[in-house]
Amino acid sequence: MNSKIWLSPPHIGLNELKYVNEAFATNWIAPLGPHVNEFENGLQKLTKSSHVAALSSGTSAIHLALILLGVKAGDTVFCQSFTFSASANPILYQGAIPVFIDSEIDTWNMDPILLKVALEEAKHNNKLPKAIIPVHLYGMPAKMNQILWIANEYGVPVIEDAAEALGSNIAYKPCGSFGFFGVLSFNGNKIITTSGGGALISENAELIERARFLATQARDLAPHYQHSHIGYNYRMSNVLAGIGRGQLELLSDRVTARRNNFVKYMKYFTKQNKAGFHIQFQEEPKSYYSNRWLTCILVDPLYNNGLTRDDIRLTLESENIESRPLWKPMHQQPVFSFTKNYLNGVSDKLFEHGLCLPSGSNLTENEFERIFKCLDILFK
Ligand SMILES: *Cc1c(COP(=O)(O)O)cnc(C)c1O
Repeated sequence: MNSKIWLSPPHIGLNELKYVNEAFATNWIAPLGPHVNEFENGLQKLTKSSHVAALSSGTSAIHLALILLGVKAGDTVFCQSFTFSASANPILYQGAIPVFIDSEIDTWNMDPILLKVALEEAKHNNKLPKAIIPVHLYGMPAKMNQILWIANEYGVPVIEDAAEALGSNIAYKPCGSFGFFGVLSFNGNKIITTSGGGALISENAELIERARFLATQARDLAPHYQHSHIGYNYRMSNVLAGIGRGQLELLSDRVTARRNNFVKYMKYFTKQNKAGFHIQFQEEPKSYYSNRWLTCILVDPLYNNGLTRDDIRLTLESENIESRPLWKPMHQQPVFSFTKNYLNGVSDKLFEHGLCLPSGSNLTENEFERIFKCLDILFK
């Protein structure tokens, strides 16, 4: 059996271990230390933002953002339906209620038109949401300018879930820097990784200081342990921040590699489309720049001689090649069956026909050959 080709495996460079060894040599084995500070500085420069707190995960960053915005039991929070469950779960941690908003077809992310409809209705019912969570799926920036304009009109802050979009931008403004809060993730499958980790971004120094306070058990200034608030253990460890420093140096290489993957797939499927197939991609709107974290295709059997997404997935699987359906929208998830949703059919269609292809920045020419040879069985 050929070795497994993974969807998006970690890709470690030469300096990560050097930084980790440094942490060991200096005994900074704790959720604070010089690597944490340097990693935060690096992220701040990269996202052209003012303040960054390195945390234990992207999920904890979203949770802290909600806490800092005062989201409480019974409040509502609008969230993109087409996403990974971690975008929405922290809403429930606060006892608040998510309302899911469908996507538009250009970027596959939150539809500003539906958002406007939902906000207007919420205003009419005197129940505006406490926050809005758009997501940049697969690295493709959401229509942030429109979303922010509408959110401002109703005075609702935006938590920008940029977990998949480090290195992406709109007109050179980096993803993660648009929202009142921005959220990053460094989980093992993301474009750069600390094995597990995340970050919270804001222009507001006090709020990021507050995030650090809450993330380290909310300890008051006193020689003994005294607490006036409920705290969390959400800070990033200095060892993992060392991995992050090494990874951050490689980010632009990783973006280039993933964008090259996209071009290779695009060429392959464009050739098939000329032969009568109709495979679609997540296209970049003008002035949008995606890190192409994952290359995704849409395979509608109606226009592909009956060929389905699952035909492709299972054929790849038989050759030990991992691929995966696009995110199942939150409004379709059993755990969220109680929610109110604003839908237009877009994310249902994306989930029905969409497939993520192997997209690691360490994919070799050899592995690409294996993938294409395998696809050739179906496209002939
Ligand atoms: C990965 C991811 C998260 C959560 O990040 P973790 O670091 O895994 O907690 C949140 N939202 C999206 C869209 C993600 O892809």
